[in-house]
Amino acid sequence: MRIIADTHCHTIASTHAYSTWMENIHAAKEAGLSYLAITDHGPTMPGSPGRWYFKNLKIIPRQVEGVFLLTGVECNVVDFDGTIDYVEDEHKNLDWVIASIHSSTLLTKEAPTVESCTNAWLQIAKDPRVCVIGHCGQPKFKFDYERVIPEFGRGGKLVEINNNSFHVRRDAVINCREIALLCKKHGVRVIVNTDSHFATQVGHAGLALKMLDDIGFPEELVVNSSVERFRQYLKERNIHLED
Ligand SMILES: [Zn+2]
Ligand SMILES: [Zn+2]
Repeated sequence: MRIIADTHCHTIASTHAYSTWMENIHAAKEAGLSYLAITDHGPTMPGSPGRWYFKNLKIIPRQVEGVFLLTGVECNVVDFDGTIDYVEDEHKNLDWVIASIHSSTLLTKEAPTVESCTNAWLQIAKDPRVCVIGHCGQPKFKFDYERVIPEFGRGGKLVEINNNSFHVRRDAVINCREIALLCKKHGVRVIVNTDSHFATQVGHAGLALKMLDDIGFPEELVVNSSVERFRQYLKERNIHLED
């Protein structure tokens, strides 16, 4: 199995990532990708891009060097009611919205519990703005996987298998596997992303793909494993890049 789209990548605009749009595009082309989504961080992340960054993404061409481009944002989940830092005025024209929990961007003092994280994700499962559930395997934010994962499927969300977790969130790997097994059990679609913070990572998701392979994960549930499948999801989301 391989990926033809990488839909979670950061640029220097996030200020803790180190490559530009063009460097990421070159890397995507080198890696043989057909699609690339750039998803810099939403406003609650320290050092995240200013409001004009997202507003002006409309100037980005739909295709550069043969790679189709999606504009996006990695929104932060800021509380356990499932509120995300989506800013209507800045983000409404973007193609791709990931929702992720990060310790540094929670605005509540409430300590996470399985119940509160379950509640947050159940709300996000119904949020029509969100396409991807970002790196949700962190042990600190464990939720009731068996209850929530089918709801992700019902809400049309893609559960992210994040290759970067195998490097920077290693304590999450065991949960990622459990989450993937439940996606397999319930027929919930996943997307394999790199969460690249440097261009050489773009398109290289070997560790995530190996884990899926190890558990016999069905390729037809990985939306970015073929151009046809990814196109189909874009159609569902009413995203038209190719016309
Ligand atoms: Zn993240
Ligand atoms: Zn990220």
